Amino acid sequence: MKNLKVPFGLHIPSGKIVDVHSVELGARCNCTCPACGANLIAKLNHKTPHFAHKSECLVNGGLETSIHKAAKQILAEEKQIWLPDYSYAIADPRLTQYWSEGIEVKFTNAIHVDSVRLEVPIGTIIPDAILEYKGREIAIEVEVFNPINETKRKEYAKRALSAIRIDLSKKPHALTLDQIRKIIQEADERKHWIYNNRISELIREARKRATEKQIVYHKSHKWPYPLPHVQNCPLKIRQHEASFFANVKLDCRRCKYATLVEIKRVRCAEDEANKAIQKFLVSDLIPAVAGTASFIFMSDP
Ligand code: SF4
Ligand SMILES: [Zn+2]
Repeated sequence: MKNLKVPFGLHIPSGKIVDVHSVELGARCNCTCPACGANLIAKLNHKTPHFAHKSECLVNGGLETSIHKAAKQILAEEKQIWLPDYSYAIADPRLTQYWSEGIEVKFTNAIHVDSVRLEVPIGTIIPDAILEYKGREIAIEVEVFNPINETKRKEYAKRALSAIRIDLSKKPHALTLDQIRKIIQEADERKHWIYNNRISELIREARKRATEKQIVYHKSHKWPYPLPHVQNCPLKIRQHEASFFANVKLDCRRCKYATLVEIKRVRCAEDEANKAIQKFLVSDLIPAVAGTASFIFMSDP
């Protein structure tokens, strides 16, 4: 069935997307459907006030289109976004048990971007918007009924283009312009990185520069054979007298910094990971928020 209700209308006199609370009742709202162009009536005396088509929406997806247009209008006019949190693990996800744990980057204010371009095709994809900030680009995808799939994520990675998705799928009928503005411009869990090119580059570099650790064998009271340990584990996980070490099987195998763990070999990127964090802080994507981005270790192995 074609959807007749839309939360936003295209206000004819101003040419802007408006929400139902800012117009007059009924046909006096002076709005058309942002998707099909048909006249709308404002149903203000309703539990969830909304716009309705007089007859029917002439295209499918009127609801989706009106939300996309509302988000794009806010981005293009106000040029502000609060970047979503970013968490990552240096370790290869196939290698460690707790691969999803890592380092989390949190931003503490919105950034003002230099420009916003709407619906510019990039190869096979057309992001809703491309923000330009200090010479770098970030694509924006608004999600209502069509979740971003893996193919799209791979396409962004292939093109080395950072991308963020804004999830507006929760109760889309009831969204207001003000709510969408807050989701975009304030810290909100409905924004996620689809792909972050800068941090992916840094992780790749850090992995390459991981260093081989020396393995030593320590006698154990519990086992009849000596156990492989890494001497001087930078995380200082275990201590014996004055020295620190890590157990290859129990610690390195689940460590977010391990890039290779075999019984006689461990490659560890702990030092490089910290350099990567520093680089990320001063990288050209972040300078305006340097000092306002905080880096926390979500959990230590
Ligand atoms: S991989 Fe982790 S546990 Fe092992 S030595 Fe490096 S930091 Fe320590
Ligand atoms: Zn319509």
